[in-house]
Amino acid sequence: FTLSGGLLLSLMVCALIYHSLLNRHNVEREILRGLKNKEFFVEYQPVIDSKTLKVTGVEALLRWQHPIEGRIPPDVFIAYAENQGLIVELTRHMMILVAQDAHKMQHVFAEPGKLSINISPHHMEKVSFHDDVMNFIEALPENAFQVVFEITERGMIDTEGALREFNWLRRHKIEIAIDDFGTGHSALIYLEKFTLDYLKIDRGFVMSIDQKTLIAPVLDTVLKLTEELKLKTVAEGVETQQQAEYLRNHGVTYLQGYLYSKPLGIPVLLDFIRDFNEKESTYHI
Ligand code: C2E
Ligand code: MG
Ligand code: MG
Ligand code: MG
Repeated sequence: FTLSGGLLLSLMVCALIYHSLLNRHNVEREILRGLKNKEFFVEYQPVIDSKTLKVTGVEALLRWQHPIEGRIPPDVFIAYAENQGLIVELTRHMMILVAQDAHKMQHVFAEPGKLSINISPHHMEKVSFHDDVMNFIEALPENAFQVVFEITERGMIDTEGALREFNWLRRHKIEIAIDDFGTGHSALIYLEKFTLDYLKIDRGFVMSIDQKTLIAPVLDTVLKLTEELKLKTVAEGVETQQQAEYLRNHGVTYLQGYLYSKPLGIPVLLDFIRDFNEKESTYHI
């Protein structure tokens, strides 16, 4: 699979670039300092319903503006935070910020907006997980959002643990999305075993639509499978009109990508959603 090869390479490049600042010895200190210094913030990427072409939700993405190194991509600092066990601190902090922003966002959606956040499988294993989640839910404006937790396929490795946590989350009305589907181990068996709500189709598959790469037929198979399993789908990294059309014609439920919008800070996001949802849907086709 060239997909995972490319991913590995880009992770290695990222790791090399950030070696200077974020090495094992000082990363813990840097993240804790950054948390105190309020260097972390959240951006939100709109998610579009492929039928109505309205923004029906957002994905919250964590950002780090380092005073010397500038923006450090989440792929980089989250990998470090996971190794150092700091992911719990980071996620708690991020949940506080998201809950605050949720109060500003609550009136922008016609129906309860879908509020997606990324959850590290490491966090799900921690004893504090349930408390962390409950604190978050209680800090949100009431009945204004449908919360979605995005978990990568790595989270499926500990099948029993994941199954138990997913059931707990669903009892608390939280929906579950498998993130970056197709980049992990793809032991497809979990699709049948777990009650999942969404499959997020990785950008690599979306790219294959225009580029007609070898994995292009795999996308069609995945879409047939999700239809069979009655799973909703989100295509990530949609960048071209051609991709959007293909995905809509093949029954993908939601679209997300630079074609519509990059991740935005709250004030710009609110304007974007209002403008976008006001326009006639044909405008965007
Ligand atoms: P992800 O959850 O798959 O998030 C989607 C990533 O794709 C985001 O990168 C987003 O900016 C980028 N993206 C969206 N549309 C397009 C597009 O059309 N083209 C391209 N080239 N890229 C697009 P970002 O924000 O750099 O995040 C990278 C990853 O970091 C996320 O992947 C997620 O796994 C992780 N991450 C971000 N925030 C958090 C967080 O709060 N907690 C955890 N555990 N992980 C996070
Ligand atoms: Mg995600
Ligand atoms: Mg993703
Ligand atoms: Mg991705």
